[in-house]
Amino acid sequence: MKNALIIGVTGQDGSYLADFLLKKKYNVFGTFRRTSHKCFERIEEMGNYDKITRIKADLADYSSIQSAIRQSQPDEIYNLAAQSFVGVSFQQPILTADITGLGTLRVLDAVKENIPDAKFYQASSSEMYGNYLGIKNEDSYFKPRSPYGVAKVFAHHMTNHYREAYNIFACCGILFNHESPLRGIEFVTRRITWNLARIKFKQIKKFTLGNVSARRDWGFAGDYVEAMWLMLQQNKPDDYVIATGESHSVEEFLTLATEYAGLGDWHDVVEIDKSIMRPTDIDELIGDSSKAQKQLGWKPKMTFKQLVKTMVEHDMSYFKAGMDQFHLHN
Ligand code: NAP
Repeated sequence: MKNALIIGVTGQDGSYLADFLLKKKYNVFGTFRRTSHKCFERIEEMGNYDKITRIKADLADYSSIQSAIRQSQPDEIYNLAAQSFVGVSFQQPILTADITGLGTLRVLDAVKENIPDAKFYQASSSEMYGNYLGIKNEDSYFKPRSPYGVAKVFAHHMTNHYREAYNIFACCGILFNHESPLRGIEFVTRRITWNLARIKFKQIKKFTLGNVSARRDWGFAGDYVEAMWLMLQQNKPDDYVIATGESHSVEEFLTLATEYAGLGDWHDVVEIDKSIMRPTDIDELIGDSSKAQKQLGWKPKMTFKQLVKTMVEHDMSYFKAGMDQFHLHN
């Protein structure tokens, strides 16, 4: 039986990946941060709380990362932890650099010092590419437009450096946006489905959004965690773009979601608030995952429409069930 350590098991991807690895009969260890409130909602919702060995660790604290590695003796390490919200990275750039950027270096160095034969996965991001036009692949140029993107570029290059300099089996998955009913409520897709459900159940009348013309390549998180695992099953470490190859605007997501929620025209329920727009944004991101499709045999399964419908239905059932059947993910 293999041991896997998921750094950031409490997040969206951590919860889906834990579920995927448990089904593959791994011993799953997962790190969580000390907080003053409960943080296991997602792994509880998936029914996996008791199946995961939970270890307290923070990416700001090198000793806690070393302890997690020593305790779990992992064959595979997945670094999914990050200050992962682009919007917040403008307000907290130093924290973002420390956790999302330097935090990855702390993990890489702890791997090198303690368990250099383990395989390592780094959660790189399409936000590294920035705003120049075209479909992005593994060779495309990085020109990030946010402190989050800059920190991810640092972590990406460090992962490549540890692979080349120290022979660590380290892979970067350059994942384009992926969503699910477990997405954090501050992210635009879940902000839409969550607030539409609140409107439907008469808690609010309207909500606000920023830039609805931004276009993203949106896939389903459950499909994307399989790609993470596949990368670590190859003979050689490498980097892969994981994407659907289609882009849709926030407005398209909103239009479909409002329709699925049975709320008519989105203009009646949403106000555009320019004050929540980012100082710099990316107009469009589309990824070319042909390398992953060819070498890993991976491809996305859930369509854009199915994704929107699944998220709307989840949030509607939350309110329908009287809110005590589910948990908040924020
Ligand atoms: P998420 O839901 O925000 O999860 C992030 C995880 O990191 C959570 O478990 C969080 O813990 C943990 N974390 C935050 N700060 C930490 C710290 N100081 N020390 C230790 N853990 C910390 O993000 P996600 O959507 O699952 O994404 C997973 C990874 O993929 C992230 O690195 C993200 O940047 C990257 N990524 C995501 C996407 C996407 O579209 N989802 C696309 C490309 C790349 P708490 O639960 O305590 O907050």
